[in-house]
Amino acid sequence: MTLSLIVGPPNSGRTGRVIDGFLAAIPRDPVLVVPTLDDTERFETELTGRIGAVIGATVCTYDRLFSLVAQATEAPSAPLLSPIQRTRVAREAVARAGDLKLLAASSRRAGFASALDELVADLQAARVDPATLASRAGEAGPYELEVARLYEAYCEVRDELGRADAHTLAAAAIATLAERPDAWGARPVFLYGFDDLTVEQLDLLRALMGAAEVTVALPWEDREVLASARGALFAELREVQGASVEHLEADPAFTESRSLFEVERRFGEPLEGRGDPVEPDGGIELLASAGELAEAEAVGGAIARLLDDGEPAGEIAVVLRQPDALGPLYRRVFARFGIPAAVQADLDVTRTLTGAGLIALLEAAVGAQRAEDVLAYLRTPGLDSQGRVDWFERRIRRGRLGGADEAIDDWNSGETRRELAEIQRLREATGPDLLREAARQARWIAEGAQRGAGAVAAEDRSLELRAGAEIERALLELADLGLDVDPARLAATVRDLAVPLWRGPTEGRVRVISPYRARARRVRHLFLCSLQDGDFPRRDSGGPLLSDDARSALALRPRVKAEAEDRYLFALALSRPKRRLWLSWRLADDEGGAAARSPFVDEVRELLDPPLPEELEERDDALTAEAGGRGIAESVFAPDSAPSEDELARALAARVGTPGAASAGPTGEEGTEPGVRERVAARLGAAAGVTTPERVQPGPLGLPAVLEQIASKDLFGPSTLEEFATCPYRWFVQHELNPQRIGPESDALTSGQVAHRVLEALYRARPGDSARPTPSTLDAWRARARELVEEIGTRDLPRERSATAAPLRRTEGLVLAFVDDEAATDVAFEPEPELFEASFGLDRSDKGPFAISQTAGIHGQIDRIDLGPSGEALVQDYKSSSKVEGGKNMLDRGKFQLQLYLLAVRELWSRELAGGVYRPLGGTGNRQPKGLLRKELIDDLGPLDPRPRDHLSDEDFEQALEAARDRAGEIATEIQAGDIGRRPINGKCPDYCGFQPICRRERGLPEEEPGIEEDGDE
Ligand code: SF4
Repeated sequence: MTLSLIVGPPNSGRTGRVIDGFLAAIPRDPVLVVPTLDDTERFETELTGRIGAVIGATVCTYDRLFSLVAQATEAPSAPLLSPIQRTRVAREAVARAGDLKLLAASSRRAGFASALDELVADLQAARVDPATLASRAGEAGPYELEVARLYEAYCEVRDELGRADAHTLAAAAIATLAERPDAWGARPVFLYGFDDLTVEQLDLLRALMGAAEVTVALPWEDREVLASARGALFAELREVQGASVEHLEADPAFTESRSLFEVERRFGEPLEGRGDPVEPDGGIELLASAGELAEAEAVGGAIARLLDDGEPAGEIAVVLRQPDALGPLYRRVFARFGIPAAVQADLDVTRTLTGAGLIALLEAAVGAQRAEDVLAYLRTPGLDSQGRVDWFERRIRRGRLGGADEAIDDWNSGETRRELAEIQRLREATGPDLLREAARQARWIAEGAQRGAGAVAAEDRSLELRAGAEIERALLELADLGLDVDPARLAATVRDLAVPLWRGPTEGRVRVISPYRARARRVRHLFLCSLQDGDFPRRDSGGPLLSDDARSALALRPRVKAEAEDRYLFALALSRPKRRLWLSWRLADDEGGAAARSPFVDEVRELLDPPLPEELEERDDALTAEAGGRGIAESVFAPDSAPSEDELARALAARVGTPGAASAGPTGEEGTEPGVRERVAARLGAAAGVTTPERVQPGPLGLPAVLEQIASKDLFGPSTLEEFATCPYRWFVQHELNPQRIGPESDALTSGQVAHRVLEALYRARPGDSARPTPSTLDAWRARARELVEEIGTRDLPRERSATAAPLRRTEGLVLAFVDDEAATDVAFEPEPELFEASFGLDRSDKGPFAISQTAGIHGQIDRIDLGPSGEALVQDYKSSSKVEGGKNMLDRGKFQLQLYLLAVRELWSRELAGGVYRPLGGTGNRQPKGLLRKELIDDLGPLDPRPRDHLSDEDFEQALEAARDRAGEIATEIQAGDIGRRPINGKCPDYCGFQPICRRERGLPEEEPGIEEDGDE
């Protein structure tokens, strides 16, 4: 029998030679071995295209080759361990390995069992058995001895369970083939796409050489970049006795771009061997972006344009050094752009709704058993109304529910709901039954994603089903293993699982793949992405458990260092595109910090002529624009480059307000394909009821039913009008959308509201028989104040607040400070009990509203009205904040509640006005009131006297009141017309406004805020 080696650099025609040889051998049932299942699919398609149905011949991966040999030679084997069973066996081995010392701390960490499993597989593939390792470890040291003990324990557990694994099967296949080579039937074997083989793969190959003709095609030539990482395999195979070697040369005819061909040939060569610089001919494009999302979008945009130009999706590939990390992002972006893609990466199940839901369920049932776990489970789509869950979350956030049991009782509220009955079922199950019950739950949750219409994006539904199936299979496999089950770590077991983002044929799709998957296949366009220093090439983090020194001490094959490995993969990737290579990297991260690109990019750029200029950023941007992407500072595509309808809509929305935007709007006259632009234009117009893109701004209100309802409002509270004056959109959100705070109310707000109620009760009680505190009655007022704080605070503070002493003491502090201030002020005004909390225009009021316009009136409740010697009224309004407004210009700052109250007292109670003041309850040091006083009636309020500028002449006083009435009338008219919009007062959003995520107004740095005024008005 023979070994034929076909060696040559990439693009030297090795594929053609292998396929020709394979086809010639068809009558003898040949076997073609390729690296991945994708490759088997591709070769089968190609062979079928050339000769019709392929009968007898086999295209398979190396694992399958081991199975074929084992079957043919009737190699003995037990049932194989699956990957999760191997990890479980590794965990059991750690538990049984006894008193580890050097590895004791590491062995308690999550991921240790997986690392051990990886090392064991590595040792098995190197055909180093436990006894051999133990003997070598004895000379190496105690650390290596502990590793050897773990390996031995792994094998013992596996054998006790009566199981085999892929490597024991491989060993059996090699042994029986060596004994009975005729059993293979002399089927010729072809290997294509491999640049390295493990010891056991090599041993099988050697055994096959004794049984059949073997042909191996290797990417090799005498170049440093290829030989340093993969030279060992060729060196080993050419020494095989009787091996023939056929050398092929690189052929430029396989590549459409001469510059691409030349760059690939020269990459990694020493300077003196490179020859003349390469003249760019469009075979290499550069894409520089800012941030991971922007990079994925730039790549997606370029691919969308290629597809528009008629390039088949199957002729485009995106290569990521670590697809598991960035693959999900590319999948999301490509789905948005309508690009058919197959992202060949694994996703942690924790990042699927099914995985997250099951983990939360397991934690709630048999894990940490926190209320948050119950909440997280109930957030699983398709389980229950999310509105109901919001209120449930509110109760948890406000500290009203502690552990899982309390949360379950609260949720059930007397009835056993289906979703939480599952927790009980899990708690009742033990051992393998617990695993089976959890597996059943995984499927049920995954199917829930289909039941909850709209809860899961369409492109994610199959992923969720796949996640459910993967978890179910893994848990059932664990149940079959028969080892002990620890309920407390069941959630951790599920956390370690991953789900493939794509499963199925990849033909007709843009593939997002690792450089390893890219090796055996060429495409017309290849995007090499995330070319960052530290990512491609990676930083070397060593191998699992064993350092390079330890490997050397144990006589194991040395690892290829990350830099050499990645240089080799990059060089190979350069050879994969036939027409164009796109090199993409990030100049900045998502926070705007500088990001370093891969040195490989610079090596490629240095090969090109003209040499790249120093001002790299300008050049990058120019090239980015040339490549049809978007500038690095742009957050959306240019309309002419938008890859989808949604992106075009974004592009147009971003141009609103830009000079010339309307003329460059969605007319379909030039640039992008008219149909897309017209559809977007129609969508924008239909949503707005107008035909220009300006309508994407929020407000004014447009729906007739809403307008009719809002026009019918005719009574307004002063604080409502002030809210509108501060910002109409803020008013709309606060009063009409009415979002509910999910966490606890702020301490300051709740304490202020309770202080209001305490003060009302205190003044009605008249401690010491005085209408207001005086030095002689102060003790009685303070004593009664304390009692009322206890009584009202315990009753009225929210449960989570009243359970702690702090809010009560804070309220008490506010009230006592206020009482002290009052006692220190000797004034002729006394509170009128009849006018405590004097209300007007409310259902419970004796007084009606007072008019501010022909269609609007004011209602409200005044905290307190004091009367002077002649019955003149002094309005006092408590504020929870520490700062208040006063003076005749307070209207300019949107404050007019006090003026409206003064008008109400005059018009409804027929009182002459002395003035009005805001009393800041929240001030700790300075509690000076502010307001409007008629200086002819009040010239001094002692320590409580407002600032001099708050004392107004009668004329200014009247003007201030009438101006407030007019402004209130205007605002009422704007509300009734639905004229809302993002119009913060004086053009500046108050920094306490938290509605920016709703209104989406860009905010600069917060302005100095004169004070937040909150009161307890209803
Ligand atoms: S953030 Fe500014 S524009 Fe938006 S609602 Fe608040 S105040 Fe108005």
